[in-house]
Amino acid sequence: MKISHLQCSLCKTTFSPNEVIYTCPHDGANIDVIPDYENIQQTVDFKEILSSPRQSIWRYLPLLPLSDPGFEATPLHRVGWTPIYAPKQLTHQLNVPSLWIKDESPNPSASFKDRASAVVLAKASQEGVRTVVVASTGNAGAATAAMGAAIGLDTVILAPKNAPPAKIAQLLVFGARVYLVDGNYDQAFELSIAASKEFGWYNRNTGYNPYTTEGKKTAAFEIWEQVLLNLAPEQTLNIVIPVGDGNIITGIHKGFKDLLRLGWIEHMPRLIGVQANGSAAIADAWQTNSHEIVPVQANTIADSISVNLPRDGWRALRAVWESNGCFVKVSDGEILTAITSLGKAGIFAEPAAAAAYAGLVKGINDGSISRENPVMVINTGSGLKDIKACMQAVAQAQIVEPNIQSLRKFI
Ligand SMILES: *Cc1c(COP(=O)(O)O)cnc(C)c1O
Ligand SMILES: [Zn+2]
Repeated sequence: MKISHLQCSLCKTTFSPNEVIYTCPHDGANIDVIPDYENIQQTVDFKEILSSPRQSIWRYLPLLPLSDPGFEATPLHRVGWTPIYAPKQLTHQLNVPSLWIKDESPNPSASFKDRASAVVLAKASQEGVRTVVVASTGNAGAATAAMGAAIGLDTVILAPKNAPPAKIAQLLVFGARVYLVDGNYDQAFELSIAASKEFGWYNRNTGYNPYTTEGKKTAAFEIWEQVLLNLAPEQTLNIVIPVGDGNIITGIHKGFKDLLRLGWIEHMPRLIGVQANGSAAIADAWQTNSHEIVPVQANTIADSISVNLPRDGWRALRAVWESNGCFVKVSDGEILTAITSLGKAGIFAEPAAAAAYAGLVKGINDGSISRENPVMVINTGSGLKDIKACMQAVAQAQIVEPNIQSLRKFI
């Protein structure tokens, strides 16, 4: 797709794509990528997308800000087109008309972040970038390392040293240069910005690089094809999304805005953001009707949404306002319970991902989410990413002697 211009999400100043690389030079706010919608309307027939043989985010290439990336038969081509499940038991328990779980764990590095990394790194490679740096609680790093390895870009990852070991293992196995920061995610974030200035590395940080949302918006396109096209037009879909920095919910919002602007959908689904009680800067702003996001001292078991100062908070608030949605806050205990509920439907979620389902249960029970609407919950990352946390959600397994007498005692 052709980019019409870039625009500051706050002061609305417009820029050409080569004028600004990251955030707004006036106020530091996040930059929106505005496609040339007229050009898309003239050149793209949405039926061609619906019949595309590509089962990945690349079926949406006409709506993405880069040319065909190539690299067929690499993990880059396995990103996206993730399955949706309709778990009967959970639908029944919640008493909603329909419930779908969109499972992001089949992505190459097992989280939603692959969508952003695939688009940002493929675009960077087309523009001659050699080295990409990212600060990450783990998943954005794993996705960057995986996509970098797939297409031959060097990657440098700055992760907090207490990131879950499985995520650190991924970084190392994918061959990234890994530096574990003796500090939290917010400090790794600042360090990565200083490093990209000092060493000339291209920065892929969430809520800093404008193109991450262009990758993340592909989830909205998939929801459009997988669900919205089959829904009666008067039905509004509730989409429940876990929120840390606020970039996933912003990206999904962007995808639906594209579809709305192109006239391919009639109205916006309702976006519902879920934050952990211990890391709820955006949800707090929403609940107090404030535009100002006050940083917190983050403390939650859900490491992927543990952030003091969300880097895309303003656009996350905008996504919820403009879609008539809401924010829900959940405790770590509710997150652990959600891990087991999803597990009984055969879906393995890391804590941050399970927060979405926990938020749905909470919101349905306290009335902030209506029972009348069909619901989609995004399972943003695999439970294999954080075994230690997931083990806290379940009882320990019994040890038996290898004979039937011993087993019988337990049955
Ligand atoms: C990054 C991440 C989130 C939150 O996304 P934000 O853009 O930070 O709001 C949720 N779940 C998982 C598994 C993630 O990796
Ligand atoms: Zn601005």
